[in-house]
Amino acid sequence: MEKLLNELSHQGQTGYSVPETDVPEKDLTELIPEKYQRKSELNLPELSEPVLRRHFTRLSQLNYAQSTNFYPLGSCTMKYNPPINEKISSLPGLKNLHPYQPQGTVQGLLEIMHTLEKNLCEICGMDSFTLQPAAGAHGEFTGLLIIRAYFNSRNEKRHKIIVPDSAHGTNPASAALAGFEILPVKSEQNGILSLQKIKELLTQDVAALMLTVPNTLGVFEKDILEIADAAHKNGTLLYYDGANLNALMGITRPGDLGFDLMHINLHKTFSTPHGGGGPGSGPIGVKKPLEPFLPVPGIEKNNKNEFRFNYEKPQTIGKVRSFYGNVPVILKAAAYVESLGREGLKKTSEQAVINANYLLSILKEKLPAPAGNRCFHEFVLSGKPLVENNVRTLDVAKRLLDYGFYAPTIYFPLIVEEALMIEPTETETKAALDDFVKILFKIIEEAQNDPGLLKNAPQNTPVSRLNEVEAARKPILHW
Ligand SMILES: *Cc1c(COP(=O)(O)O)cnc(C)c1O
Repeated sequence: MEKLLNELSHQGQTGYSVPETDVPEKDLTELIPEKYQRKSELNLPELSEPVLRRHFTRLSQLNYAQSTNFYPLGSCTMKYNPPINEKISSLPGLKNLHPYQPQGTVQGLLEIMHTLEKNLCEICGMDSFTLQPAAGAHGEFTGLLIIRAYFNSRNEKRHKIIVPDSAHGTNPASAALAGFEILPVKSEQNGILSLQKIKELLTQDVAALMLTVPNTLGVFEKDILEIADAAHKNGTLLYYDGANLNALMGITRPGDLGFDLMHINLHKTFSTPHGGGGPGSGPIGVKKPLEPFLPVPGIEKNNKNEFRFNYEKPQTIGKVRSFYGNVPVILKAAAYVESLGREGLKKTSEQAVINANYLLSILKEKLPAPAGNRCFHEFVLSGKPLVENNVRTLDVAKRLLDYGFYAPTIYFPLIVEEALMIEPTETETKAALDDFVKILFKIIEEAQNDPGLLKNAPQNTPVSRLNEVEAARKPILHW
């Protein structure tokens, strides 16, 4: 267990040197009101600088990080985030801006944001973007408010949203929060949607269909064009959950597939270190007919190349976040897009898809892949065969921690029993993927020969297996 600073303390050690005060003590006692004067010793730990530094460096390493190892957490796109993006977003001219500064003094920032909006339109095939929402789920919620405002403006009463059972839990949650009723639709055996089933659900009260493409099983909806066509014939809008955009950049565009609006998780696809709930950014893109409903302010450029905030949108849904969005994440995404360019982004997606297929092609020899032998940027395996050894997917995940790997996403999507969802991302080398395969195969062998090793895992981590419900509800954050 990590020692406390007080336990590391040794009398007489110091880690600082400051000049003697040149204010006489008598003056100090006169200057500082009696009630603020310290009456007893402060009792701070006494530590040398190296001891202190080692302590905090050790603490920083208790967190698992992309910077130290492979992070195959499916659906979360834990790719390597080039520190250059961090550097650019913290340039003094950007970092020191204040949201209350006059528009004339933040033209550079507005230009960067405007350019990113245009680039996102190009990447996604949309007509307009807002960078305001703070995360993917917040983007979904914003998108659903736009859908509601659109139908209200047309005096159409549509209160239902179709959501497949493979969707991320945030989809039905956002739809419910925006006041819609959820119409769930079951996916077929191979994880994709049946055009026939969708057609049967498309009644006059359906506002939108919320789809993730490729879906959470990493499979492309092969009937998407027909599905879009059927939805549009019914006056229903198509919402694209863009959390999986890392599979498609430069290959196809949601707008070209028929989607009317979408969100992007900038922190996933466009490279911001995230985890534990943040930081995020979930821009929303829309096609022309939905533009009037976007949040305010929009960023506009006039014919003198000046940028300004436009608050005058009579049909806007209003503001969805303080100020203009999560600017540091927006800046990192802008740096990422500019540094990769058109070809680089396409290569990124291609490599993400190749890496996932490479892993799938080997791992499916030992664990079933219910959605088939091909995938996009991620895939789902089932740990079901191990259940006969009394081993669950949870135990496999815990044992991976013992070998220094982060675990894949487990028990999601809900439609695969004992699911293990793996997303290697484009930034891993073949050698890193091979290491992961070696360890996962070793764990499967252990499951068959010595299941106790998995049941009692992890043993090599700072804390062993936690009661996860208690840990979430009543976390012990100090000792
Ligand atoms: C991550 C994710 C979301 C939610 O995004 P957040 O930024 O975590 O709110 C929605 N849908 C899918 C498919 C995701 O992977």
